[in-house]
Amino acid sequence: MAPASVPTVTLNNGVQIPQLGFGVFQVPDDRTTAAVSAALETGYRSIDTAAIYGNESGVGRALAESGLPREDLFVTTKLWNSDQGHDTTLRAFDSSLAKLGLDYVDLYLIHWPAPGRDLYRESWRALERLTQEGRARAVGVSNFQSAHLERLLEGATLTPAVNQIELHPGLPQAELRAFHAERKIATEAWSPLAQGAVLDHPVIGALAARYGKSPAQIVLRWHLQLGNVVIPKSVTPARIRENFDVFDFELTADEMRALAALDRDQRTGPHPDELN
Ligand code: NDP
Repeated sequence: MAPASVPTVTLNNGVQIPQLGFGVFQVPDDRTTAAVSAALETGYRSIDTAAIYGNESGVGRALAESGLPREDLFVTTKLWNSDQGHDTTLRAFDSSLAKLGLDYVDLYLIHWPAPGRDLYRESWRALERLTQEGRARAVGVSNFQSAHLERLLEGATLTPAVNQIELHPGLPQAELRAFHAERKIATEAWSPLAQGAVLDHPVIGALAARYGKSPAQIVLRWHLQLGNVVIPKSVTPARIRENFDVFDFELTADEMRALAALDRDQRTGPHPDELN
């Protein structure tokens, strides 16, 4: 169970994911253990990594050193594009599990649809098998557009529990969020702070001054109130703590709308149709 201060979102298979977790994209493996340890000490219990980040071992070391019971942790990792396909997915999963030092993950995601490879439906069958074997408590996708999801669902036994997508006030993803809600797919926001690019916006600054909070805290609060699962990254202990201190204030409906109006179709990462 997550610390009492972090609400959970119940996924479509009943598994609960902490609504606020900790991301480790672009953290070198040898700095990952310290960052994840700082997050666990702060109270985060959900950690988001990926095979391509090259830091699953660093995450695993921090989990082991924490002494926290496995059932209190929520660990997500992801299948890289070049490993898509049924058997290659199963092998990549085994490799991730070994690096993490775990015998199951809480959530395993197909990292990108990689439409040029046209293997995500085959990969999905492997993820379905991993849940049947109890080696992934939940499975989902990342960076899928609604058309990719429609196509995946045509031949699927399971509906993805999660779609982890780029989402922040510069890219609020209203349409895809509505699609997820119809299909009972949880929305998880990556680059929730747009890697810092939205933090100096005057609308966000004014709200920060009004609440005596930082711009990052305002943006994270917006995500939580939208119902997103959110996974900010930081290697800076003071920011790791700051990003966790978002449960003692509430934005009004007007303020929520003002933040969503910052939509500029602003991406920090590639467009999902274009990465293979
Ligand atoms: P974020 O939006 O979380 O921003 C991280 C950046 O913001 C870092 O430069 C960090 O600096 C800075 N920062 C963090 N907290 C604060 C704060 N309170 N005030 C000011 N600056 C701050 O970007 P990410 O791209 O890392 O996204 C978060 C996570 O999402 C990733 O770590 C990863 O787990 C996941 N992700 C998934 C992707 C996917 O394709 N599925 C793609 C990209 C990310 P510093 O670290 O120096 O403190």
